[in-house]
Amino acid sequence: MITKKMLLILMLLIFLSSISLAQRKVYDYGNLTAEDIEELRQKPNPCAEMKSRRMEGAIKQRFLNNAVLEDGNQADYDVLHYGIDISLNFGSQSIAGHVDYLLKSLVNGLNAVDLNLIDQLIVDSITVNGMNTIYNHSVDLLTITTPTTFDQGDEFAMAVYYHGQPYSGYGYTDGGMGFDVHGGYNICWTATEPWGSRNWWPCKDTPSDKADSIDIIIEYPSSYDLASNGVIVEEEDLGGGRKRTHYKSNYPIVTYLVAISCADFVIETKTWNYQDYSMPVYSYTLPNAYESREVFDTLTLTMLNHYSDAFGVYPFVEEKLANANCGVYGTMEHQTCSFHDPFAWYYDNVYLLIHENGHQWWGDMITCETFNHIWLNEGFTTWTEAIFYERQFGMAAYHQDMSFKKYLGGGTVYVEDVMTDVIFDGNLSYNKGSWVVHMLRGVLGDSTFFEAIHAWYGSEFQYGTATTEDLSAVVSNSVGMSMNWFFNQWIYGNAHPKYEISWMCEPDSTAGYNLYYFVEQAQQTGTYFKMPVKTTFVTTGGNFDTTLWNNGLFDGYTLWFPDSVTNVIFDPQEWILRTVSQIPFSMHIITRTVPDGEVGNPYFQRLEAAGGVPPYYWVMLGGDMPSGLVWEGDTLATISGVPIWPATYYFEVQVTDSDSPPKSEIWSYALIINEESQYVAGDADGSGAVDIADAVFIISYIFSGGPAPEPLQLGDADCSGAMDITDSVYLITYIFSGGPAPSEECW
Ligand SMILES: [Zn+2]
Repeated sequence: MITKKMLLILMLLIFLSSISLAQRKVYDYGNLTAEDIEELRQKPNPCAEMKSRRMEGAIKQRFLNNAVLEDGNQADYDVLHYGIDISLNFGSQSIAGHVDYLLKSLVNGLNAVDLNLIDQLIVDSITVNGMNTIYNHSVDLLTITTPTTFDQGDEFAMAVYYHGQPYSGYGYTDGGMGFDVHGGYNICWTATEPWGSRNWWPCKDTPSDKADSIDIIIEYPSSYDLASNGVIVEEEDLGGGRKRTHYKSNYPIVTYLVAISCADFVIETKTWNYQDYSMPVYSYTLPNAYESREVFDTLTLTMLNHYSDAFGVYPFVEEKLANANCGVYGTMEHQTCSFHDPFAWYYDNVYLLIHENGHQWWGDMITCETFNHIWLNEGFTTWTEAIFYERQFGMAAYHQDMSFKKYLGGGTVYVEDVMTDVIFDGNLSYNKGSWVVHMLRGVLGDSTFFEAIHAWYGSEFQYGTATTEDLSAVVSNSVGMSMNWFFNQWIYGNAHPKYEISWMCEPDSTAGYNLYYFVEQAQQTGTYFKMPVKTTFVTTGGNFDTTLWNNGLFDGYTLWFPDSVTNVIFDPQEWILRTVSQIPFSMHIITRTVPDGEVGNPYFQRLEAAGGVPPYYWVMLGGDMPSGLVWEGDTLATISGVPIWPATYYFEVQVTDSDSPPKSEIWSYALIINEESQYVAGDADGSGAVDIADAVFIISYIFSGGPAPEPLQLGDADCSGAMDITDSVYLITYIFSGGPAPSEECW
């Protein structure tokens, strides 16, 4: 019989369960909608948040301890191997044990070793090559005197025995090693980027020196489990409720990626099969996050496929990948073992999974040499999230995700000062950094770009550390031209271009149309950006897509179309981090450059203007006409004559229209007069003969920003006074259909 009380309890339970259902939306990861992606995107970026807080904590810690910022003589030696061997005491929240080292001297006469270790951890003894030695431990620096000196290339072993309470932060999230109770479960975790490894073990705490391999041997309560880097090579029950687990990794690793998480986990194992590889994938889940584990296990396999296809096989495929819960808020990309806050996990923060594990390629395999170049970790990985969506849902999802990451503010991606700037700035290191990779893709095109990404993956920096300059060198080598200009302006340059475009389309004399198209960069930063700009010209005869190089604060283009142009769409797919606005076409000088002249050869060039109210009135304001040439200005502007002296001549002209009030524009020219030589009319590429390559050369110059004929008249095959698409047609007619030959008469 159901009593009233039972009924009330039942109703209450239904009510409560409907609340929790309403709170937690379960996503169908096989069929995410655009709305789902938007919602998932709105979840916080735990990577940036957690690391920024840890960094604040680390800086605060250094100031509070009055610690020196230098790391002693750490540049004088190379770490070859670390062996951490400690026991965890959950009751006293302390550790005890030792760290073994294999070091190599990089200098002659090395007689000391400086390690980072916080003062509250007590050093018991130190040996070098088995001999006890003296040391000094103050202001978080452990200076060990070696009993003998070592010369460059000498290898030696060292061991530091220590104990005490590790540091877990002045606040909950500062980082280091913490003993916490999470959802009722004991957990010991570490999270240490950027400089928190010294909070639990003595080490050379910098990203610039990777150890070639590491052993991590931890003793802990036998009812718990341990997640760490590499693979378990030995596990031993010690009796008395204690056990010891020995992890080993043979991949190079930096100190901030060394981590342990120890708790009573639920462990799941899956197998990832890819090409000839077969690798275990684990999840270490606290029981209160168990419900959402399956989604993450499945997503991890999908993610491994997508990223391996896009960049190169998962870099630590000989070992494993694990996702483990940790006790601290946020998430961290520890090598072969990413950590995630179980609450974030519970709320389906898919970014957390595809971001942290993207770091296994960018950040773990290739690590920033210093935190000034953190965008190589965070920018690359933030962009990698969009690659996950592209591989899963197609190109539109990629662009949608990139549009969420757009940051249109000031600051440089390069971190100028790691002690005062925010290394983990979500806007600069993450979002703008991701756009730099996205823009590189836009500049290079997919096949060249992904070749360059594979070159970066397989470069000398694989499993090493790198700077922006290293990336630029690898990409430049891969694409066959220097890309320094690209990285300089986007990594070290401030802000972004603010484009203002204007255009005017007029019928020309050949039943086609001339488009006068101007692109101005209106940002007030004192610099301009050089970028190829994908542009769609909408004409009455259909759309015409091309790429125009924009390389100045003010660029003008005259383009010929068979049909009238009704719209110009600048960077339609948003491959550039920019703003763009259309402004009314004003009056402009459309002859932006004048062709070279040649000593002894007749020269004729007319300057043209467009827009405003004709007629136009031209004056030369100053500068020098080449000797032998005459400037004539009034309603027409011409330069004509026969040059007699080779040199470069500079002059400035002004044009004014007949509007009320009148508009005017001033433009400067450089006119190069070359030595006399023999040109072949129509030989646009200067090969010495007129052939189809010359027609292609002209098309490439007009539409794709290719090199110009030298002198320009070589491309003016029909002697119209300007080089345009009709010259290409003229040459093709001459070569294939017996049309008239290009003539030198007109120049
Ligand atoms: Zn990250």
